[in-house]
Amino acid sequence: MEPLIHLAFVDDWEVRGNGSGDPRVLQFAPMRRLTELYQKFGLRGSFNAEVMQQLTYRKLQGRFPELKILADEWEQAVTDSFRQGHDIQLHLHPQWIAAEYHGQDGWTLRGDWSIINYPGQQMRALLLSCKQFLETLLRKIDPQYSCVSFRAGSWCAAPSDSLFPILAELGFVFDMSIVAGIHYETPRVKLDYTRCEEGFLPYYPMMNDARRVSQTLEAIVCIPTNTFRASRRALLRRDLSKVQKIFRNRITRVAKGARNASATSSRGQTGDDWTNRGESGPVGFVRRAVKRYTRGQTCVSDLSHMNYSMMVRMMDSIRERAARSGLKQVAVILENHTKDVQDFSDIERFLTQVAHSTDVKTVTLTEIAKGLQDGSFKVRTARQ
Ligand SMILES: [Zn+2]
Repeated sequence: MEPLIHLAFVDDWEVRGNGSGDPRVLQFAPMRRLTELYQKFGLRGSFNAEVMQQLTYRKLQGRFPELKILADEWEQAVTDSFRQGHDIQLHLHPQWIAAEYHGQDGWTLRGDWSIINYPGQQMRALLLSCKQFLETLLRKIDPQYSCVSFRAGSWCAAPSDSLFPILAELGFVFDMSIVAGIHYETPRVKLDYTRCEEGFLPYYPMMNDARRVSQTLEAIVCIPTNTFRASRRALLRRDLSKVQKIFRNRITRVAKGARNASATSSRGQTGDDWTNRGESGPVGFVRRAVKRYTRGQTCVSDLSHMNYSMMVRMMDSIRERAARSGLKQVAVILENHTKDVQDFSDIERFLTQVAHSTDVKTVTLTEIAKGLQDGSFKVRTARQ
């Protein structure tokens, strides 16, 4: 019998990592659009709300009334989605610590991007305040609500002596920060997940290095965010259409003049924040492209960066690995970034397909946590 795939549509809901971008454009509007799509197909999604941004807005709202308006809208968007049955869980970008606001000129975020670079006590205080914030907000709607899952900002979760013991102590049931196969050596993020011991199934992590599978049961579970090998052709097609879009936007910008400059700033800018060392500029671009189209690439199952044919390939890969596991039910975590979605047509097509698949059941992160606790989802140790 083919396994039943419990698929979680998960979204990291945030502005750019450097604080740029208008929350109305990058968060509120696309969240509404996405939840409309989920409703249309009778599906429920999960949003990993980045809470540090919201706490910062609240902290500064006395001096800057425009931040209060945005923070109120943030809570409205979150509670509206939650009332419709979608899940809200925790995502945390520590760079918002001691953020400076310059009005029209935006933000300066000086904090380190990786939570594991902070001392344990500070890490714990951040996690606790963000978890309590979400629980206070959402228990007004559902007194049973609990913040049960975590995804670290910029995926930075391992190795660390402190993070997993703190997550377990604070009552998190599982973490989904591990993404097997990715590697970043950027000005902001240093992370090496190229040698993860489990890239697909839930497992008990080594408490000081979640890239490794523990020999024994632990107080918290890891479920990797799914990855797959994309075909070189699909990558090429996706990248060509990206280049086409960039040119089309440039032409529109020239035609519309200054008006388009504000459209660009409302979407924010990442600059080289996510460019690996040696891969910036035209030479780096070519080097990256050659590597991708000759060797292929491990892709994060991030719907915002995929076209429809990649989504189909991703599901094929999920089905193959689920069948190989020999398990009756498998929980799989997808990714999405509403901030990067401008055209929802491929996602809509994919949701149609999922809604009609008899071997796929859409679940929220809270439902996955329950399944882990009641034994519906088997959790690996290094011995099995
Ligand atoms: Zn994020």
